[in-house]
Amino acid sequence: MPLSPEQLREVDDLRAETTPTLRATAPGMEQHLYTPVQVLDHGFVRVVDYMGDDAAITQAARVSYGRGTKSVSNDEGLIRYLMRHWHSTPFEMCEIKLHVKLPVFVARQWIRHRTANVNEYSARYSILDREFYIPAPDALAAQSVVNNQGRGEALQGEEAERVLRYLRDDAMRAYDHYEEMISTEGQQGLARELARMNLPANIYTQWYWKTDLHNLLHFLRLRADAHAQYEIRVYAEAIAGMVKDWVPFAYKAFEDYRMGGATLSAAAIDCVKRMIAGEEVTQENSGMSKGEWREFQGVIEG
Ligand SMILES: Cc1cc2nc3c(=O)[nH]c(=O)nc-3n(C[C@H](O)[C@H](O)[C@H](O)COP(=O)(O)OP(=O)(O)OC[C@H]3O[C@@H](n4cnc5c(N)ncnc54)[C@H](O)[C@@H]3O)c2cc1C
Repeated sequence: MPLSPEQLREVDDLRAETTPTLRATAPGMEQHLYTPVQVLDHGFVRVVDYMGDDAAITQAARVSYGRGTKSVSNDEGLIRYLMRHWHSTPFEMCEIKLHVKLPVFVARQWIRHRTANVNEYSARYSILDREFYIPAPDALAAQSVVNNQGRGEALQGEEAERVLRYLRDDAMRAYDHYEEMISTEGQQGLARELARMNLPANIYTQWYWKTDLHNLLHFLRLRADAHAQYEIRVYAEAIAGMVKDWVPFAYKAFEDYRMGGATLSAAAIDCVKRMIAGEEVTQENSGMSKGEWREFQGVIEG
């Protein structure tokens, strides 16, 4: 279970407390505040705090004195214009603080997103829990034969069982040794900061992660994408669900122009024009490499 009954009670207590405020609040985000969304077998993501809403984006764009809302359609149109034209700073006026519990190998990918503020659980100071990510059977994928950075079908039968056994046994043995090394029963006990080094990368860690909406959308563009590794993608998808409720206009514009949109090179635009004019365009006469052509076809043919 990702949260203990005591931790869940703390979340309920926080949600039971309300304070009147003059600050802008987003009703969609208030629903999510503090509540964990389970991700993977022992992980979760939850919103600890946030600042701003859709109106905060237009307010900053117009540098208004008041809330900045002209009309709902006006605000949505402005947000779409800002997104379309990469006028990104108004989106930086919204902030989000997340509490995430995630396997260390996922954290290594996540931490590459440098435009965030992070504070991680200290394994120098505290003892890590005996919690390891063990993939569900349908996520126990074979190596892809066409993409070195991808996966194929799920492993089956005896091979799947053997792999799961290795993952579980190795994790448990490493944790047994970790516990034994830090124990002070009849020995001095190795420092926690050293004992942790034998633990595998599927052990869970936790952090608080704070970023602004512009950089969060950049994170989601890369990590909620079908090419991202499944284990980080599921976190990105959980966060995307929260962002959709928090800033619905901004999220819709993001879906249209970033997640669902595509960037075409000058050569690709030229090909589209020639196709519309009735010319038969092939990879050979397109001016594009085979890889570019394949991706271009993916965009225009779906
Ligand atoms: C599918 C996929 C595969 C990947 N494979 C690999 C891999 O094999 N090896 C690997 O090492 N990484 C890999 N990465 C990580 C990738 O290279 C980026 O490090 C990661 O996605 C973070 O992106 P970012 O730098 O744009 O984000 P952030 O760090 O959040 O930065 C946001 C933007 O701020 C600017 N910025 C931030 N810091 C600097 C800086 N110091 N200097 C200049 N500009 C800055 C840049 O414009 C940047 O795009 C992969 C990522 C994905 C999504």
